[in-house]
Amino acid sequence: MSNPVIVVHYHELWLKGRNRRFFLGKLFTALRQSFQGIPVERIEQPGDRFIVRLGDGAPLDEAIKRLERIPGVAYYAVARPVERNMEALCAAAWDEIEPVRFEAFAVRAKRSDKTFPHSTMEIESVVGRSLLDKLRERGRDVHVRLKDPDVTCHIEVTPGPLLVYARKIPGMGGLPANTAGRMTCLLSGGYDSAVAAYHMMKRGAHLSFVHFYGTGAQPGESSLHVASGLARTLTPYQFRAKLYRVPFEAIQREIVRAAPEGVRILLYRRMMLRIAEAFARRDRALALVTGDSLGQVASQTLRNLVAVDAAARMPVFRPLIGTDKMEIIATAKKIGTYEISSEPFHDCCPVFMPRTPELSARPQELDEAEANLDVASLITQGVQGATLEKFAFTGGRVEATEPKSVLPADQSHAAIA
Ligand code: ATP
Ligand code: MG
Repeated sequence: MSNPVIVVHYHELWLKGRNRRFFLGKLFTALRQSFQGIPVERIEQPGDRFIVRLGDGAPLDEAIKRLERIPGVAYYAVARPVERNMEALCAAAWDEIEPVRFEAFAVRAKRSDKTFPHSTMEIESVVGRSLLDKLRERGRDVHVRLKDPDVTCHIEVTPGPLLVYARKIPGMGGLPANTAGRMTCLLSGGYDSAVAAYHMMKRGAHLSFVHFYGTGAQPGESSLHVASGLARTLTPYQFRAKLYRVPFEAIQREIVRAAPEGVRILLYRRMMLRIAEAFARRDRALALVTGDSLGQVASQTLRNLVAVDAAARMPVFRPLIGTDKMEIIATAKKIGTYEISSEPFHDCCPVFMPRTPELSARPQELDEAEANLDVASLITQGVQGATLEKFAFTGGRVEATEPKSVLPADQSHAAIA
């Protein structure tokens, strides 16, 4: 009879006092922006949930696909719109409940339209009784249990059609986009850093990405298209994203020339953190994010991570520190970065790989290893060589700008000071 309606629920946990309006406003914006290009009649907010009324010709599958990428959605349901009378309501409740297997059920009504002539208690008991009778007629051994039922038949009395739904589908959870502040993520082409980015965006952080690439690659072999593809795939979670692309090979050569072989990779990492920090300051971001996982490779032993971090002036967050590769891969598959990271590309880090990498560096040892390097000018070189590609998620598609040089030379000094 009418277009599909999606009921969107969020967890109440983050609705602390004065933050409530802020968080709900952000979630509302996220819903509106995510559904761009899909006909939506309106989005209502009757109490502790959102009701998205799709418009004529709206593709439900596409709407659900978009909804599943919105942080802050705890779960959602596709509701049946029903004529405003009790018979129609009982019939729709039956259609909704009949295919579900359960022992105990409950009916829960919420009434945001007080003009409906029946109270919530009346609705619950009439619909509950009707369901129980029909179920038992069919020989099903079921009972009503209000506390912790196996399935709940939800009824929403809002202006317009009544809504009925019983199947709640988990959303991605987390906190609404762009509520937690800014961070800068070191995005390689591999599986880990894209998944690390996802975890931080899920918690409401807004990320900019920095990718370091080798220039010695064969044409078509560079890692740039992989980093771009990853940034593009991650953009819908936060609507906009920047990708700083830093040519790194000259800096690596300088490290190779001037520092002991065993700590090369660690010095690459320290330079990456410092250059990423310069961009973080430019974007007023307060922390860095990497895809490190404890002990995954030689550069990620506890001591090495600590020695690398000593070069950073901002906190470095590593959301994957305690996860296994298998778990990371599973998430990469879920969020669609797996295929992109699986593409062959020229990774800058294994270049000039040491034969025996240091496993337990001390910060002081790395400071000494850098003694013959002009760290400040290498940072400037990285910042000045960088190009910036910007992404925006609008109308259901991600658009990218042509990469442009980041800063005029005179400003990049200011940015890193
Ligand atoms: P990933 O960790 O994403 O799978 P990887 O395994 O190639 O990529 P590691 O050698 O594990 O990378 O590096 C650890 C972390 O350092 C990465 O997760 C990423 O945050 C950062 N990093 C490494 N290489 C790059 C790069 N080329 N550009 C940006 N960040 C990088
Ligand atoms: Mg890794």
